[in-house]
Amino acid sequence: MKSIREIFRIGYGPSSSHTMGPGRAALYFKEKNPEADLYRVTLYGSLALTGRGHGTDSAIQRMIDDPEKTEIIWEPEKTLPHHPNGMLFEAFVCGGLTDSWEVYSVGGGALWDEKGTFKEEEVYPDTKMTDILNWCKAEGRSFVEYVELHEGPEIFDYLAEVWEVMIGAIHNGLENEGVLPGNLRLARKACSYHIRAQQSAGTLRHMGMVFASALAVAEENAGGGRIVTAPTCGSAGVVPAVLYFLKHDQNISDRRIIKGLATAGLIGNIVKTNGSISGAEVGCQGELGTACAMAAGAAAQILGGTPMQVEYAAEMGFEHNLGLTCDPVGGYVQIPCIERNAFISQKARECAIYALFSDGRHKVSFDDVVETMMQTGCDMQAKYRETSLGGLARIYRAPIRK
Ligand code: SF4
Repeated sequence: MKSIREIFRIGYGPSSSHTMGPGRAALYFKEKNPEADLYRVTLYGSLALTGRGHGTDSAIQRMIDDPEKTEIIWEPEKTLPHHPNGMLFEAFVCGGLTDSWEVYSVGGGALWDEKGTFKEEEVYPDTKMTDILNWCKAEGRSFVEYVELHEGPEIFDYLAEVWEVMIGAIHNGLENEGVLPGNLRLARKACSYHIRAQQSAGTLRHMGMVFASALAVAEENAGGGRIVTAPTCGSAGVVPAVLYFLKHDQNISDRRIIKGLATAGLIGNIVKTNGSISGAEVGCQGELGTACAMAAGAAAQILGGTPMQVEYAAEMGFEHNLGLTCDPVGGYVQIPCIERNAFISQKARECAIYALFSDGRHKVSFDDVVETMMQTGCDMQAKYRETSLGGLARIYRAPIRK
């Protein structure tokens, strides 16, 4: 299993698989072919179906940085063999093809090609939650100690930077008002939710604060702001919202929050390694379902949970999002994505509380849910996997202004 740095990537929204991944690929291909006078990029499958709304073309053009030399071709009817998010990059000099490269954006900003160009080093010997949990039990240690053992203490410096960017995204999102980019004309809500939450008390205030922070990050992401994938851009609001709430509500230190991030990263990593965090591959259960598991596990740990309770919180956060489809209206990472970040943040908090009421023993393991999620994703019709051809994307009838 690779580093948890792969789960937490710092970058710009709105989509890790549709903007961060293609942008990274474009930069790599341009640097490899600096002499080209034309770069032709063909986008297939999900990238072609939702790429306009997600801003895939802009992300590629920004990296190539020469609109005259860039041609984008959309092939929504065709899917390349290894993943729904396939791309073909071609370089031309004086009309002659000099290089071509088939590459896939496989979720969370990660890239894959047959040559193993982006193969990351394996960091962890275990890939299953059950094995890691057994190690914790046998050694009397925690998930955080497991992360530190394999990544080294420098991982906490990286996670400190991640936490800083997450806080920045919350603060920016709580301040920014107005309409989000795109044809939906969707107004930002985080600021008004925050004000109303501050004027409330008790449970209402708690819920409002969590909603506001999640909306803030999700809206920053939709507006192309700086965020951290957790595990993707579309699901980037859940982990920061839950941890930010705990920090302020329970007066938790940043050091303890950063340890929570280590465990959240480990949980996301297990899903990525044994399943998928790509909405184009398995639907939203792989994105916001994973985010819910990450936040629930981190919250349970921060609130003093044992490794068994942490695993239980993550398992519930994941299990109760099984089957969640991906159907972004108009191809924008806005409806249902933004609201879903808010509701799932609240659910993650509740999963942590539920697990902490228990002794951590339960029947269905986290690994069972990862396997079920993957199977469910494979059984899901393509129209529910980030193609904007089904679900809300098809039924929602309000006018989308051009
Ligand atoms: S519905 Fe979920 S998976 Fe699909 S784009 Fe929105 S956040 Fe991503």
